Amino acid sequence: MVKGREVRTARLGTAVVISGPSGVGKSTLLAALRRRHPALRFSISCTTRPPRRGETHGVHYYFLEPEEFERRLAEQAFVEHAAVFEHYYGTLKRELLDPVLAGEDVCLDIDVQGAMQIREALEREELLRRCCEFIFLAPPSLAELERRLRSRATDSAGQIALRLGKAREELAFWPRYDYLVINEVLERAVDELELLLEAFRRKTSRLPDGYFDEK
Ligand code: 5GP
Repeated sequence: MVKGREVRTARLGTAVVISGPSGVGKSTLLAALRRRHPALRFSISCTTRPPRRGETHGVHYYFLEPEEFERRLAEQAFVEHAAVFEHYYGTLKRELLDPVLAGEDVCLDIDVQGAMQIREALEREELLRRCCEFIFLAPPSLAELERRLRSRATDSAGQIALRLGKAREELAFWPRYDYLVINEVLERAVDELELLLEAFRRKTSRLPDGYFDEK
């Protein structure tokens, strides 16, 4: 029992980096994943954008003033950061490292710029190399993505055009991720994410060197 616990705490969790173009249904999909796995952790990002209705500081995001964001940036508190739709977004190092070092899995819902920064950091940081996995969420086709974006009643024509342009650019990044999940039928895409999370728990890179010495 005690031994089992020792092994568990020594095992690293997985940091699952998930990106996908605007309109792919990422929020809906991740909300469905959360419902199935209430204990699954999600990194809380910092952002300088104002909260939307129903969003709470410290739950959905840490909503920061630009000066505060820049202060954290200067302190090198972020593992990645990017400007998305005219606002800054960033993942604090502790949001990724605390769960992973405690052996817990954590999902990072971040854009492609941020994901590529973490990818680059893998070359320098062994810990990140051992714990990060990259999943790209894609629509079945570009035409379907356009249809989904246009059907969002909340966005103005200008916003749609902006999101469409960015979505096209983002879609081109899929080959730089390790896994591709197509969101055609929501429940099936959630099943696929679940399967990947299961597989990640079996990764040898997350186990301590002396794993079998403890047995
Ligand atoms: P929203 O403002 O709609 O919540 O998010 C807009 C975009 O910013 C989404 O694509 C989301 O994945 C991305 N995003 C959210 N948090 C972060 C972050 O910490 N870093 C980066 N690079 N992108 C983020």
